[in-house]
Amino acid sequence: MREIILAGNWKMHKTIEEGESLVKCLEEKFKDSPLKVIVFPPFTAINATAKIAKKIKVGGQNMYFEKEGAFTGEVSPIMLKEAGAEYVIIGHSERRNIFGEKDELINKKVHSALENGLKVVLCIGEKLEERNAGKTEEVIENELKKDLDGLSSKDITNIIIAYEPIWAIGTGVSAKPEQAEEVHKFIRNLLDERFGDNVGENTTILYGGSVKPANIESLAKMKDIDGGLVGGASLKCESFFEIGKFLSKIKGL
Ligand code: PEP
Repeated sequence: MREIILAGNWKMHKTIEEGESLVKCLEEKFKDSPLKVIVFPPFTAINATAKIAKKIKVGGQNMYFEKEGAFTGEVSPIMLKEAGAEYVIIGHSERRNIFGEKDELINKKVHSALENGLKVVLCIGEKLEERNAGKTEEVIENELKKDLDGLSSKDITNIIIAYEPIWAIGTGVSAKPEQAEEVHKFIRNLLDERFGDNVGENTTILYGGSVKPANIESLAKMKDIDGGLVGGASLKCESFFEIGKFLSKIKGL
């Protein structure tokens, strides 16, 4: 059985105090929910939020692959774990496109996160011009191949894939459920071909890109969509909880 997950990427939002108050609210709202809920605060708020979080899991939005050293401005997997993170997002399109992260670096980060006991949310997705040029599958295949290079089927049990079409992130326009489902199915098939062992069937694949209470039901009705990675709508307790409520209902949790 694949795990159904609701993940909230806070990006560069929330002070420590704001993060604490959001997690307190989420703890209360989700306390009886069977859903796995993960939040990704900025580095500065990980420790404080992780101290409050019980039902809610906490992760980092990024990390460097080395354990320590002269890497000004970077944070290691060990530091993330010590602060209370159990998960880390790797390869978010904002890291790829604003900070120039390439697949080779992303692959090193994935290896390092797993070696240091963090679970990975690996983000992949195409740009609008790539979709319009009919290259969505090519982009997805290429990212998956490079980002997961050198991993075993056992390693993949600690990886969650987030399909995030870049044109849908922060735009208010999500992919159509059928468009997302098509790519999720494609990802599952690729994982099966590459790793065998039913890896495709067993891997949680989240959809991300303008998920909100108004569209989660139609997305979650798709059988290969196992939950959402939510940006903007994860910043408010009520909207994030609403998404969780609809997601649980549709998935029959
Ligand atoms: C994201 O940050 O991964 C994301 C999907 O953002 P939004 O929900 O705001 O589109």
